[in-house]
Amino acid sequence: MAEIQLKGLAHSYNKHAENPEYAIRQMDHIWKDGGAYALLGPSGCGKSTLLNIISGLLASSEGEVLFDGVRVNDIPPQERNIAQVFQFPVVYDTMTVFDNLAFPLRNMKTSESKILTKVGEIAKILELTTVLNKKAANLTADEKQKVSMGRGLVRDDVSAILFDEPLTVIDPQLKWKLRRKLKQIQEKFKITMVYVTHDQLEASTFADKIALMYEGQVVQFGTPRELFEYPNHTFVGYFIGSPGMNLMAVQRCEQGLIFGDTVFTLNKYEQQCLDDSDSHNVKLGIRPEFVHVWDKPNGEAHLSEVEFVEDLGTYKIISLKFEGQTIKARLQEDQKVPHGQVYISFPEQWLMLYIDEYLVAKDGTYE
Ligand code: ADP
Ligand code: MG
Repeated sequence: MAEIQLKGLAHSYNKHAENPEYAIRQMDHIWKDGGAYALLGPSGCGKSTLLNIISGLLASSEGEVLFDGVRVNDIPPQERNIAQVFQFPVVYDTMTVFDNLAFPLRNMKTSESKILTKVGEIAKILELTTVLNKKAANLTADEKQKVSMGRGLVRDDVSAILFDEPLTVIDPQLKWKLRRKLKQIQEKFKITMVYVTHDQLEASTFADKIALMYEGQVVQFGTPRELFEYPNHTFVGYFIGSPGMNLMAVQRCEQGLIFGDTVFTLNKYEQQCLDDSDSHNVKLGIRPEFVHVWDKPNGEAHLSEVEFVEDLGTYKIISLKFEGQTIKARLQEDQKVPHGQVYISFPEQWLMLYIDEYLVAKDGTYE
């Protein structure tokens, strides 16, 4: 097991072109030993590229990969001691399930008695015991992917296991179950695991910490709760949550910021940061869960108009027209659905300031 450190990492698939594009842009990141991590982000943001660089399938154009402080850039994949599970099953069709699972162990000259124990253990966890003697060719797609995952899990000496959207081909019920099993295995053996997904739910059920990637960079690394409560970047606000954060492009004014005719004042620290910047890309963000909706005037609440309401079964999302823009709010469970004109307020604590898309912390303490 190992700590994986990425130092000044960058990668371009066309670095000799006149204007090379970077799939990974200047990244410094540490995956601590024994942690359960998710690498979350939309398609094309560089997740697979990053995993392939860590496992050694791909050589990065710039920067270093360190395992426990030792540079591994020049070490071939098979010597890096990393198990990688891909989106689509990789199995040896002509071999039995048992032999497929035993393969990585036999490669390392593990004794047959240890192989029997280890394969048995993993087969049990993945519910493959009854098919151990079947040829892999005769398995269902689900079973084949379980075998692929099993091959990654049989070795207890690996530095880390990297999963690249491994449950894509698995049906939803089983997906949930397998994710829990992975988590159990992680907790039991404390193997460093990096689990790639584009699904926030999958990321937060598996991982203790999520690295959210956007355009080749990790824009935030934190617990699911941190990503929800303090999105470090507008993209985190947008991508995490359902629906994502409301973002208002605001203008500077004497009292602080103005959106349409509505003035927002900032706290001292935020105002100082705003004064120190000359950017015109300033936004205020608030999550739908934190917007309050009243059917009568209430203190400083702002007038707005109900556009429509979506009933999502266990909760309702209301869309409101506020200063010409749609703002979404999540209604409280027992709250009556308002109609027509309503009043909305944005609790100061949850109204976030973004300059050039990055969060300005309320008091400068959190990231
Ligand atoms: P993700 O796994 O997050 O979907 P990828 O790492 O596959 O993202 O891709 C990141 C970027 O690199 C994309 O713009 C993609 O088109 C590009 N890319 C990926 N693989 C290659 C390749 N082999 N050659 C050229 N460009 C590639
Ligand atoms: Mg990918």
